[in-house]
Amino acid sequence: MTNLQAILAYQETDKELYAIEREIAGSEERKEYVKMKKFLEAAPEKLDALEVKANSLKGEASSLVEKYEKAEETLKEFDSLDELIESGADVSFYKKKAQSVMELLKKLKAEITALTASINATSDEYQKLKKQVIAAQKMYREAADKYNAVKASKEETRVELEKKLAEIAKNVNGETMERYKTKRKERIFPIIGQIQDKRCPFCSMEPPLASLNRLTGGTTIECDSCHRFIYKE
Ligand SMILES: [Zn+2]
Repeated sequence: MTNLQAILAYQETDKELYAIEREIAGSEERKEYVKMKKFLEAAPEKLDALEVKANSLKGEASSLVEKYEKAEETLKEFDSLDELIESGADVSFYKKKAQSVMELLKKLKAEITALTASINATSDEYQKLKKQVIAAQKMYREAADKYNAVKASKEETRVELEKKLAEIAKNVNGETMERYKTKRKERIFPIIGQIQDKRCPFCSMEPPLASLNRLTGGTTIECDSCHRFIYKE
């Protein structure tokens, strides 16, 4: 068996292994598993962000409450207004001042109300996400079990194919095997094919003449376009 024949035989068996891998990778069970996994991985960051937001809103709220209390305090000055007027103070000045304080209080109250609503909304969102995380943890475990079952159902065939491949690999030159396996890791398949009408059998690109000239009796070249190997018998 030549090196070329050996690698072609290897690829033929590898095709079955590749099909199994694709089947597992494309299964609904894996999709569900990955979805749950991603959700759970992203959740802590989302929860943290909501907590930071809630804390900053609470900080804003307490500074508003402080302002409100201070404004209320200034209103107390007006308790002694009667005495002030009796001693000949300007009534309109105090009237104006009282009005501006009342307006400030009104404005602050509206701001506090809006902020409270925002705090409640953030807190609700946090609680909702926390519940979702708890539900997702259970769903994740179930999805993992189902995904593992799919993998387990193919395991026997996979091991058999691996054994077969190891046998065939003994006839393949080490460097060829290495190059093949590198492509395989990149999830390229098939990896090697025979030239057809001076074109790459996979992507139809025509290799440059210099490469074509090197393509004689069992040698291989790499396609510049799809990077698979091309051979000529
Ligand atoms: Zn190609």
